[in-house]
Amino acid sequence: MNGNYDKIIDKISKGSGLEKEEIERKIEAKQAKLSGLISKEGASQIIAAELGISYENEKLKIDELLAGMRKVNVIGKVINLSPVRTFIRNDKEGKVVNMTIADETSNIKVVLWDTNHIELIEKNEIVNEKVVEISNASMRENEIHLGSFSELKIINEVLENVKTEKVVKEKNIVDFKLSDNSSARAFIVQIQGPRFFNVCPDCKKKVNQEGENFICDKHGKIIQERRALINLVLDDGTESIRSVLFHDTLNNIGLTELENQDLLTQQKENLLGKEMIFSGNVRMNKFFNNQEFIIDEVKDINIDELVERLESK
Ligand SMILES: [Zn+2]
Repeated sequence: MNGNYDKIIDKISKGSGLEKEEIERKIEAKQAKLSGLISKEGASQIIAAELGISYENEKLKIDELLAGMRKVNVIGKVINLSPVRTFIRNDKEGKVVNMTIADETSNIKVVLWDTNHIELIEKNEIVNEKVVEISNASMRENEIHLGSFSELKIINEVLENVKTEKVVKEKNIVDFKLSDNSSARAFIVQIQGPRFFNVCPDCKKKVNQEGENFICDKHGKIIQERRALINLVLDDGTESIRSVLFHDTLNNIGLTELENQDLLTQQKENLLGKEMIFSGNVRMNKFFNNQEFIIDEVKDINIDELVERLESK
C-alpha cells in the first residue's frame, strides 16, 4: 500500500517474530471485524497493541508516528514555536506550548504541558533550529503530547535536510480529521454551483457590496475580482464528504466554461463519477456544522504509478 504502512508491518514483524504475511492477515481480519470502519494503519496499531509491541526502546522517525502510540521516542529539529499560553483549570493556572519538529522524513506538532519543559522555552534554551530529543511521549491524533512523565532535552545531533513543507497524508475519507492536510482518491458523486463572489484584488479577502461600490475591510473601496467556487461531494467507498473547490483549481478539474450554462452543464456531466486524487484541508463548516474538505489540489490518477505501487506491495 504505502511506505508508512510497510514500515509498520516491518516493525510489528520484528517486534513479534511473526511473518509479515501473518501480520497482514491479522490486520485484514481486524478491519473486516470492524466492518471496514478503520484504516489499515489504524488496524495495524490495534494488532501491535494486542501483540504487546512497545516502541519504548526504539527511536522512531516522525513519519512512523501514528495516532494511539504510547511511550514514543523521537528526535527532531524545532522549526516552529508558538508563544506560551496560560489557561485556568480547576482554579489552577496551567501552561501549554505548541512547537513543530522536523526530521528528514516529516514534521509534526508537539504539545508541551509540563512546566519543566515549558521553562526550557521561556528561558530561550529551546529555540528554532535546536535539535531536541523527546522520550516517553504519547500520540494524540496526529500530535505528540508530553506530560510530566515525558522527557525533553536539547541534544547536539546535527539534522540536515529536514522536511519543513506541509505534510499531506493519504487517507480514507472516513479517517479524515479536523485540520488534517490529507489526500484521498475518490469519486465525484455530486457537483453544485458555481457560486460567485467578489474579492479584493490585493488581499483576496471577500468584499462587501455597498450600492455600486465594493468595500474591502482593509483596503477600502476597490475594484472587485469576481471569483467562483464549486461544491463537490466526494466518495471513496469509506465515506463521503462535502468539498469546496475554488477558482484556481476549477480549471484543473475541467470546469472552464463558468459563464456558459450549456457548456458548463456538459462539463459537469463529464466529471460526475470521475475518480481523481484530491488534496486539501479538513475544516469545520460553521453553517452546516459538519466537516468540509477544502480542496487545493486535484490530480488525475496516474495508472503507471498505481500499478507500480500495487506491485511493490
Ligand atoms: Zn483588501
